[in-house]
Amino acid sequence: MLLSDFVGNIKVKNELNKGMKHQNLPHAIILEGDVGTGKKTLANIIAEYAVCSSKETKPCGQCSGCLKAQKHIHPDIFMADGNHSGELSIDSIRYIRSSAYIKANEAPNKVFILLNCEKMLVPAQNAFLKILEEPPENVMFLLTVSSAAALLQTIRSRTRILSLFPVSFDEAVKELQKRFPDKLSQEIHQAAYVGGGNIGSAIQQLENGGKEAMKLAQEIYAAIPLSKEYQLLILTNQLSQSRAFAVSVTDCLVEIASEAVKASVGAETNLEQAKDAAKRIPRSRLFKIQAKAQEARNVLNSNVNMNFFCTWLCAALKS
Ligand SMILES: [Zn+2]
Repeated sequence: MLLSDFVGNIKVKNELNKGMKHQNLPHAIILEGDVGTGKKTLANIIAEYAVCSSKETKPCGQCSGCLKAQKHIHPDIFMADGNHSGELSIDSIRYIRSSAYIKANEAPNKVFILLNCEKMLVPAQNAFLKILEEPPENVMFLLTVSSAAALLQTIRSRTRILSLFPVSFDEAVKELQKRFPDKLSQEIHQAAYVGGGNIGSAIQQLENGGKEAMKLAQEIYAAIPLSKEYQLLILTNQLSQSRAFAVSVTDCLVEIASEAVKASVGAETNLEQAKDAAKRIPRSRLFKIQAKAQEARNVLNSNVNMNFFCTWLCAALKS
C-alpha cells in the first residue's frame, strides 16, 4: 500500500512524504490515535519504505523488499503487539535491544513495529528508553498507541509523534466503496455514518456488525419477559464496545419490535426473531419497547456517554 492510498490525515501524510522524499524520516515515530484510525496500516507503509531497495521513489511497491513487507514476511521487520501477552514485556524489550544492534539481513534498514504500546509497563518503557538514548544505526522504531501520553516523557521527547484522526464522511464512503465493491450504497453510507469517520469501525460494521448485532438484539428480546434485570444489564452492556455496534443493535431492536407488533395482529413477517418476540411479549408491551428502542436510536445521534446509555437502555426496556 502506498502512502497516497492511506485515507485522510493530510498533515501526517505530507510530513511523511517529505521525509521519505529526502530520506530523512526520524528513527523513532509514535503513531497515536483511536482504535480503527489506521495506525498499524500506516506503520506497515513506513516499514515498507524503510526496507525498500529502490534507488528512486520509496516504497516502490515492486522490489523484493517491498513485496516481502506487503506479505509480512520480511526478515528485517519485527513486530510485537502489547495486546499479546509478554510481547512488550521488559524481557522482550531487552531482546529487541540486543537484536537492534545486529545489522539488517537484507534491507537497508531494520524496523521494529511495536503495537498497542499503552500496554507497555514502566520498567519495559525504561528499557526501551535505553535504546533511544543510544540509537543503533539504520534502525527504525514505529510505535502505535492510543495516546502518546501513555508513554514516558523521556520517550516522547526522543520520538516524532504523529496524531491520526477520523476522516471525513465523504472520504470514509470513498474508502469503503473501494474495499467493499459488492456492498449496496445504502449499507456503505450507513457504515460510514455510524463509524463517525473511523474507518476501522466502519469496516467492522460492514464485515460482521449486522450479524452480531441481530444475535444480541435477539438475546435482549429473550431476556425482556424474564424480568431478570441483571441478565438484561449484562446484555445491554455489550453495546458499549463501540458506538457503531450500539447503533446496529438498536436498529435491530427497532426492526424486531415493529415486525413483532405486525406479527401479533396476525400480519406476515419473515423475521424469525420477531415471530418469537410476538409469542413471548404482549402487544401493549411491544409498542412501548418499539418507542423506547426508537428513542434509544435517536439518543445515539448525540454525544451520549456509552456506559450511561447502556444502563438507561436496560431500565427503559425493563419498564
Ligand atoms: Zn521497493
